[in-house]
Amino acid sequence: MNAITQTFHTNDPVGNGIAAYLGEIIALRQDLHQYPELAFQERRTSKVIASKLSAWGYEVASGIAGTGIVATLKRGDGERQLGIRADMDALPIEEATELSYASNNPGVMHACGHDGHTSILLAAARYLAESGNFNGTLRLIFQPAEEIGAGARKMISEGLFDRFPVDAVFGLHNWPGVPTGQFGFVTGPAMASVDQATIRVIGKGGHGAEPHRAVDPVLASASFITALQSVVSRNVDPQDMAVATVGSIHAGTASNVIPESVELKLTMRSFSEAVRQQLQERIPALARAQAESFGATTDVNYRLGFPALVNHPEETAFARAVAVDALGGAAVEEGFRPRTASEDFAFMLQARPGSYLFVGNGDSAPLHSAQYDFNDAIIAPAARYWVRLAEAFLQ
Ligand SMILES: [Zn+2]
Ligand SMILES: [Zn+2]
Repeated sequence: MNAITQTFHTNDPVGNGIAAYLGEIIALRQDLHQYPELAFQERRTSKVIASKLSAWGYEVASGIAGTGIVATLKRGDGERQLGIRADMDALPIEEATELSYASNNPGVMHACGHDGHTSILLAAARYLAESGNFNGTLRLIFQPAEEIGAGARKMISEGLFDRFPVDAVFGLHNWPGVPTGQFGFVTGPAMASVDQATIRVIGKGGHGAEPHRAVDPVLASASFITALQSVVSRNVDPQDMAVATVGSIHAGTASNVIPESVELKLTMRSFSEAVRQQLQERIPALARAQAESFGATTDVNYRLGFPALVNHPEETAFARAVAVDALGGAAVEEGFRPRTASEDFAFMLQARPGSYLFVGNGDSAPLHSAQYDFNDAIIAPAARYWVRLAEAFLQ
């Protein structure tokens, strides 16, 4: 912690301003890490955030989508309105880091760095309130329940952008494996859609010694699983991305019994609505046809999760230019590629223009790993970035 606060020196007044209280923010991040809360249960987290923001002079609206917060700060007579969003929730994972500030809540862990995203935005919030040079309306959005893909949608359905209008909205995610503090920008699709399906292949159970009297759903399922990858390789345009994964398969109880049915659980990802729809049509049809060819039937429950996250070109170009200006060209990774993970900020970008960017978490364990920890060294550059983005947007 000391190494991080001491090594962060710069000629930039924003950087120096944040460096003055960086130690407090890191302590806050580690406190949030110690008390992680699951989706829609972020009560303590929400209270901590609201009390800080109120103390710094923000007008705080809480209770949006349960634990969500929008903090507003107006300055000058500017008419522009900017939204910046951070997520707050943790995951149902038993932490295995052995950190001094490891989770105190058994089975719950900040394994995606939302404790860090919240702290970054709070660090920027404090600077903007104390010394921010902007003209317009700043709206800081603290969102619950990103991990279950429900928080953004719920905030929007509860009138987020009607009650708190913004001209554009921005968000970020730390990314393990990308050098610490390196920024990544992607125009257009940046993260994948995610949908799920449960497919039951129904045959006719029987004695393992008399397969001719049964309809074997295991054989039919095996055929479907093999054929499934032809949807990606033979139906989807080779220039488009699609993923279809069977992550769970369950059938039977004994080696000498042909079971009645097999249950398969699938996840599908893509970067476009057209491909997403193609998967939704093609996969159930293929399952049905494959099963029928063995005399079996199917029962398909296909559930739409969230759409691909699509960054708007103009706002992304702006966000990238701010990074080059604030942090230098070397801090921006060229050719940053879209990620096939998913993010419910996609819903906010369907409602308003904006951009979602990535900040390197360094050589850490991957997201959602029990060994993962957010890298505190990225709080300062990322907070500095939010400040400069707000000052540039609200001129
Ligand atoms: Zn996550
Ligand atoms: Zn996350």
